[in-house]
Amino acid sequence: MLIGEGTNEIQRLLIARRLLQRYGERAGAFRSLEELPAEQRRLVQAVRTFVEKDVIPVAARYEQADEYPHELVEKLKELGLFGATIPEACGGLGLDYTTYAMVVEEICRGWMSVSGVLNTHLIMAYIVLHFGTEEQRRRFLPAFARGDKRGGLALTEAGAGSDVQALRTAARREGDHYVINGTKMFITNGRHGNTFALLARTDPAAEPPYRGISCFIIEKGAPGFTVSRDLDKLGYRGLDTCELIFEEFRVPAANLVGGREGQGFKQVMAGLETGRVNIAARGVGIAQAAFEAALRYARERTAFGRPIAEHQAIQLKLADMATQLEAARLLTYWAAAKKDSGERADLEAGMAKLFASEACYQISLEAMRIHGGYGYTTEFPVERYYRDAPLLIIGEGTNEIQRLVIARGLLQRYAV
Ligand SMILES: Cc1cc2nc3c(=O)[nH]c(=O)nc-3n(C[C@H](O)[C@H](O)[C@H](O)COP(=O)(O)OP(=O)(O)OC[C@H]3O[C@@H](n4cnc5c(N)ncnc54)[C@H](O)[C@@H]3O)c2cc1C
Repeated sequence: MLIGEGTNEIQRLLIARRLLQRYGERAGAFRSLEELPAEQRRLVQAVRTFVEKDVIPVAARYEQADEYPHELVEKLKELGLFGATIPEACGGLGLDYTTYAMVVEEICRGWMSVSGVLNTHLIMAYIVLHFGTEEQRRRFLPAFARGDKRGGLALTEAGAGSDVQALRTAARREGDHYVINGTKMFITNGRHGNTFALLARTDPAAEPPYRGISCFIIEKGAPGFTVSRDLDKLGYRGLDTCELIFEEFRVPAANLVGGREGQGFKQVMAGLETGRVNIAARGVGIAQAAFEAALRYARERTAFGRPIAEHQAIQLKLADMATQLEAARLLTYWAAAKKDSGERADLEAGMAKLFASEACYQISLEAMRIHGGYGYTTEFPVERYYRDAPLLIIGEGTNEIQRLVIARGLLQRYAV
């Protein structure tokens, strides 16, 4: 199989030659949107235009200064993207997850941090939409869609990351309120967001422990909620990742998601399926940008008297990068379509997240290597792709945990 119909070495060289022919001088805007249905194409094209015109020219400046991109966030609002997957009846765009994945891909082709403003916001909206009470949906979803309320997820703690069930933040009932005490770590949108889906323990004696965990909609404003610090990070810069401290913080009982204790763990896990599709799409977007940059540079840079794109060692890399990229894209759309079908998609979303994030990491490394020494400098964006990529291996469940989720799904689905 590795040898027949042209060895894989020859196959790579053929792929590279076709890539170099097809994407000639202009590697940008690589993926054609022509085949998409008109409505989907219009939206994805609008996002592509926004990214090329507004995001790409300023990404390096914001990122290197670790500065929050307020002006880009306002443009996300104008495009309606705070309501991307919120139903039209609640004021959102009502996008399916396949279109949403394409939107995320386009944004991350410009700068991943911009997509971080939306990701946990929309996971929170998903949780409220699917598990909230009617009153919670009315109160929060239109405000989420407008971007007036800006959401996030507060799950992780210093001692509870992969093992979410080990969380120690406690919520005790006092009349028509719950009182929350604890510390959350790594919370995206912690400083600039104002509304969070927070997991806390309502029954310390519950067995298994997840049955004692509940999800609350918490809002900034009341005393006892402190954004205690911003974490300095390798990549994903310009976006707030914070520690949040809760001391005797009072939340109305009406903000318990769905009105029933002990449901929080399951509610959040269902929401994280959409988050994993998002992470996979981010991987495709960054990998796309890295691949385009590598292709462009390989045509421009000469060594030993010819463009490096004409050296077979570089062609083999380009072929592998493009193949991994397209495979990641297909898996991502496959997982998004499964989510769109209304069925559980933990297996598909896990596979897409695992593959696309690892592919993205490899592709961004290869793109940097093709740039040689210049790839290691901030003069080219490939060093940023290389710094952003590893987060995808860690976020929304590390890839080690992802493999366990996939295996569990396989064993259930194909039980004998
Ligand atoms: C930039 C950034 C943004 C984030 N944003 C958010 C956010 O908005 N909200 C939020 O709640 N969290 C957020 N997180 C937290 C993130 O989800 C966690 O970091 C992640 O789940 C891993 O948890 P941990 O860091 O505690 O690692 P740990 O759980 O301590 O894992 C350490 C290592 O052990 C491995 N490991 C753990 N358990 C097992 C096992 N059973 N089998 C095999 N290997 C195992 C892990 O894969 C990893 O390699 C963010 C993190 C970062 C870095």
